[in-house]
Amino acid sequence: MRTAVHGLSRMGRRRALKWALEAYWAGRSSADELLAVAGEIRTSNWRRLANAGIEFIPSNDFSLYDHVLDTAVAVGAIPNRFGHPPQGSDTGSDLARYFAMARGGEVDGSTVVPLELTKWFDTNYHHLVPELGANVAFAPNPAKAVAELTAAAGMGVSTSPVLLGPFTFVLRSSPEALEALDPLVEVYLDLLSELGTSGADWVRLDEPALVEDRTPSELAAFARAYRRLGEATAHPQLWVSTYFGHVGEAMAILRDLPVAGVGLDFCAGHENLELLARAGGFGEQTLFAGVVDGRNVWANDLIASLDLLERLDDLCGELVVSSSCSFLHVPDSLAVETALDPAVRPWLAFAQEKLDELAVLGRGLTEGRAAIAEPLGANRETLERRRRSALVADPAVRRASAQAPADPRRPTPSDARRALQRARLDLPLLPTTTIGSFPQTNEVRALRARWRKGTLPDPDYERALRAQVDRVVALQEAVGLDVLVHGEPERDDMVRYFAERLKGFVLPEEGWVQSYGSRCVRPPILFGDISRPAPITLGWTIYAQSRTSKPMKGMLTGPITMLRWSYVRDDQPHAETAAQLGLAIGEELADLQEARIGVVQVDEPGLREGLPLRMGERAEYLAWATRAFRLASHVAAPTTQVHTHMCYAELGDVLDSLEELDVDVLSFEAARSELALVGALKDAGYRGDAGPGVYDVHSPLVPSTADLDHRLRRALEALGDRLWVNPDCGLKTRREEEVTAALANMVAAARSVRSAVGAGQPNAAAGAGPRERGGP
Ligand code: GLN
Ligand code: ZN
Repeated sequence: MRTAVHGLSRMGRRRALKWALEAYWAGRSSADELLAVAGEIRTSNWRRLANAGIEFIPSNDFSLYDHVLDTAVAVGAIPNRFGHPPQGSDTGSDLARYFAMARGGEVDGSTVVPLELTKWFDTNYHHLVPELGANVAFAPNPAKAVAELTAAAGMGVSTSPVLLGPFTFVLRSSPEALEALDPLVEVYLDLLSELGTSGADWVRLDEPALVEDRTPSELAAFARAYRRLGEATAHPQLWVSTYFGHVGEAMAILRDLPVAGVGLDFCAGHENLELLARAGGFGEQTLFAGVVDGRNVWANDLIASLDLLERLDDLCGELVVSSSCSFLHVPDSLAVETALDPAVRPWLAFAQEKLDELAVLGRGLTEGRAAIAEPLGANRETLERRRRSALVADPAVRRASAQAPADPRRPTPSDARRALQRARLDLPLLPTTTIGSFPQTNEVRALRARWRKGTLPDPDYERALRAQVDRVVALQEAVGLDVLVHGEPERDDMVRYFAERLKGFVLPEEGWVQSYGSRCVRPPILFGDISRPAPITLGWTIYAQSRTSKPMKGMLTGPITMLRWSYVRDDQPHAETAAQLGLAIGEELADLQEARIGVVQVDEPGLREGLPLRMGERAEYLAWATRAFRLASHVAAPTTQVHTHMCYAELGDVLDSLEELDVDVLSFEAARSELALVGALKDAGYRGDAGPGVYDVHSPLVPSTADLDHRLRRALEALGDRLWVNPDCGLKTRREEEVTAALANMVAAARSVRSAVGAGQPNAAAGAGPRERGGP
């Protein structure tokens, strides 16, 4: 039985690619140096896969930045603004154009904006959005795919080149771009033929767009495209791969396509088994059965996988044991982790360990279970130990969760809370605040590095951080903000900080996975019942409040964001894990409240991205996700003002659930979408206050007071006295000068709009609640 892997991390050991990219972008190294590092990463990945005995080894899964961008280049979908250097031009200018598409920059003396960045399905990887349209003329450019195929062949490794399939490629641009599918297919035919000529036996075309809901006409377009591709290509053989869920109605289409192989994900899409059986199986086609999970870090249940594979064997031509998707979504190897809890470690499988699992499964199917008795026995014992471990099950947590309210609510309605909070906090109309973090200076980062190494003692570290808090508080007072924050200098990462302090998590030291380009994240691993041994943020918040007479906003990471940005245990429903997180964060909120902190923000940037890809599953998700949030927030007294923050403007999909969060103030990104959302929010019945971010923190530009003034007046029309004034996200990545100038303008704009409203000009907000501190 043969085995297949979709792809490995592109970062290399110790994030080699990241450092190489950043050195190149900063002008500290040459294109050749960058390409040499990239070449080594590819070579080492191929060698690892070959050594593990994997038969279907991918090439062209590597990318210098992003595989969707690579596909755009391979099909010539390069918007005019990036220029069109003649084919075969020098590497330097090709790279310059490639990175201009990814990051913006100078092309022919003028500054160009990059392609947009968006999430890759429901993962935490982000890809560049192809721009298709009148000014894009497709043309095949097989150079990269052919070069990688040839390089691997030169090492004696025969590989299957991977391309993002044309259907998913256009849909990742926009649903309207489907018009471009037919002409694009002709370009793919050229690419396939080049790859065949260069020695490829198989080419994999990835079509994860099939695991989302698709309209009948989209499915018809898919079928048409692949009939054309399959019929016009005798060689290489085509393998259409799907992942991140089940293929639903597309199963029957896949079964009838003239392609040699189909990949299905049986981890995120266990429904595929039933769907495939109902479709009568694949007949002659090869099934690449994704049974080793590319999205999570738990050791495979080998016996369950063998059982599944044996059933699948009757439903296809050849059966190939496969990863469920690329291993770029999981850490690369456990071997580099030296400090993981030795009790938890055997329960885990990162990419390297997953290769071994694939090999064992392949052997088991070929030679029979007896041939793999030893690894099977060890695996069964490990899983058994995990199931029974006292580390996983905490009776007190189970009890608390069982007794938690099914529908936690704050008893006082939001209008009544608003009045109470305004009286307590004495805020002006259009209160100003920020989202939490202030610039993380190199100084703070250096301190943290020394503290982690053990060379900076706790008291010294804390004293230094307190000085940071003092500075940030003084800055906010000087600027004139109304609700202050402590600036989060003690947090390197909003999820990791809490995960480190809650029971039930382990944190890999390496364990980096690509988020986008050179950016990597290091998700914690949530393995057991969640509890909070001690307060987490209380000390910092009390200290910060002691430095000012203005209200200090406590800052917590919400349960769904903790869940979404971690690898989560697979032995109980996410709803239960979320509830445990909600209860733990609720304890922190209660402590802050007890300490007379009057405002607490529970960040939930992860809430929307947790939405299931299939519409039919969304209501259930939103029900348990908003409940988990309320388990954290319902402990707030009517006089405690609960804020939440979401980092995106695409609230459309969750609009109806925002009211379900039952918060007092919601802040979200609006600067780039020109406040379009504000009206929709109101129409959807959201009754709390709202802070549509009035300027984009991702840009170094300091917004002018006039611009801000204009935006505020527009938002005021929709929200009246429920309007808050804030930037659209945390200020962590900005420089302090930028922040001070931007916030000063923001406060000035708020003041000018306040006094206009106070003077009874048009747009005057209704209600007598708010009072202007110190008068206009
Ligand atoms: N409070 C966090 C910050 O300001 C929120 C970050 C986020 O929403 N991603 O950094
Ligand atoms: Zn944000």
